[in-house]
Amino acid sequence: MEKIAIFPGSFDPFTKGHESIVNRALPLFDKIIIAIGYNSNKDGFFPLEKRMGWIKDVFKNEPKIVVEAYQGLTVDFCNRMKAKYILRGLRTAADFEYERAIAQTNKMLAKHIESVFLLTTPELTPINSTIVRDIVRNGGDASMFVPDAVDLKK
Ligand code: ADP
Repeated sequence: MEKIAIFPGSFDPFTKGHESIVNRALPLFDKIIIAIGYNSNKDGFFPLEKRMGWIKDVFKNEPKIVVEAYQGLTVDFCNRMKAKYILRGLRTAADFEYERAIAQTNKMLAKHIESVFLLTTPELTPINSTIVRDIVRNGGDASMFVPDAVDLKK
């Protein structure tokens, strides 16, 4: 049975923190679907197509990675993709509390799906998409926080 994980998020934009979680999870799974959750009534800061394109570029040489966009419940998307694992990253105690509630609720909705958490590498802990967006909005250079393939000026 193929081990398929979904890595769900808004990835607005995809950062070096996200990249690190995916790279470290690669040996654990046969396939990782990086899944951008979106809401058709609410735009992100960066357009969905741009976010998808960037992530595809980051992993263009990694055959185990697929990039998708989805709406609705993450567990429903997992079922459609035949994924039994949800991958998430943990930076802080605040992340833990937030993730705990989501993962325990997902477990009640779908018993066969496990959430798997990786702790951030210490130097990547402060990296946060919200802060990257604030830097970009205010004309600063946020390139050091994102993978090289993510050109925030484009
Ligand atoms: P969401 O909007 O669902 O919180 P994000 O795009 O912000 O999604 O993040 C997706 C996942 O990546 C979450 O599990 C989050 O905790 C994790 N993550 C975000 N930034 C980092 C980082 N710097 N290091 C490790 N994991 C991170």
